Amino acid sequence: MPKRTSIAIPLDLPDIDVLRTEITTRRELVIGVESTLPTATCHRCGQTIDRFYGYDRPIRLRHLPILGMVVYIELRPKRFRCPFCEGQPTTTQQLDWYTPKSPFTKAYERQLLLTLINGTLSDVCLKEGDLGPDALLGVIDRWLDAAVDWRVLPAFSVLGLDEIARKKGHRDDVVVVTAQCPDGTLHLLGILPDRTKATVRNWLFGMPSAVRRGIRTVCVDMWEAYVNAVEEVLPQAAIVIDRFHVAQHYRDDVDSFRKQELKRLRKELPKQDAKRLKHTLWPFRKRKANLEPDEQDRLDRLLAYSPALEDAYDLREELTAIFDTTRSKAAGLRRLKAWRHKVEASALTCFAPFLKLLDTWMDRIANYFRHHQSSGFVEGLNNKLKVLKRRCYGIYNLRHLFQRITLDLEGYRRFRPTPTPTH
Ligand SMILES: [Zn+2]
Repeated sequence: MPKRTSIAIPLDLPDIDVLRTEITTRRELVIGVESTLPTATCHRCGQTIDRFYGYDRPIRLRHLPILGMVVYIELRPKRFRCPFCEGQPTTTQQLDWYTPKSPFTKAYERQLLLTLINGTLSDVCLKEGDLGPDALLGVIDRWLDAAVDWRVLPAFSVLGLDEIARKKGHRDDVVVVTAQCPDGTLHLLGILPDRTKATVRNWLFGMPSAVRRGIRTVCVDMWEAYVNAVEEVLPQAAIVIDRFHVAQHYRDDVDSFRKQELKRLRKELPKQDAKRLKHTLWPFRKRKANLEPDEQDRLDRLLAYSPALEDAYDLREELTAIFDTTRSKAAGLRRLKAWRHKVEASALTCFAPFLKLLDTWMDRIANYFRHHQSSGFVEGLNNKLKVLKRRCYGIYNLRHLFQRITLDLEGYRRFRPTPTPTH
């Protein structure tokens, strides 16, 4: 029986005939095609024209790889002459599956964007080979808007304002404005160059008024300028300090205390005992429920040496439990106040910075208890923002930043090969 070693697969590009295929010595597959479309649209008058006028220079477009081979499509675009326009100008025919001036087919561009989700330009260039960052930026520009398109945005009532640093330790934070839609999807609305009240207020005012009126909840960090701007532009919205921002503060306080206690213990304890206090950072930071048995051992050892640290640890876990389980604002306020009394009754001073914040922001922190159940908003948002924050280091151009975050948030929905309805 004769051996069969090749297969035929449809090329799936509309309006073409395959003329030839060739595998080069570099194992690239070059597919020569010609257009079967008998007309073009006159670039001057916009009418359909069918007077063939020869071929344009050949173009070579990179396409989706096949069986690990880099694939190129070669085409000589047809030209047509317009009988309606003065001087009978010619127009080069444009087929649906590529964009003028792009060195790639649209299908390959979509794949590049998919690869770029949560990745970096240089990494994608390395993986694809024979591809420069500029070509990739061109793809981004062709597929991703640099600003939100309000017309296609689903309705939403929850808005989030969050700052991200583009460089560790630098105070050039930008503000990321996001919308959480009822179906759970997160959409990027804008990136603001700074977090002053004027900048935030002007941006909020710039939203279409129907969108503005629909906003019921705004999640922010404890930052006066946000609150002032939101109160002015969105008076109907409840301001919620989300638990993740709150947690950052009280957890930081306890972390500093841990460092301080470790330093003290290392000095005071005999060397042999001090040695046993290694590797306690993560056991101490992790949630109790997530501790492995050996981590629990290390944590217990540390806490046994410092009863004060144990108190601080317990209070921290207690506060987290309050945020986990409370479902109404009244109960939340009651429990926060009870927790506060407990801290004051203890000899601990490590929570002093947090208590100060709590005094100022108590009411808005407690708004979280009212809203988190119905919106389910903050959890998803913050997990995504955590990832995004890391991505923004080194991207200084706000336009690129907008495109890249949009790609991360919406890329799978928009560019996955199985056609899924968009918006
Ligand atoms: Zn014309």
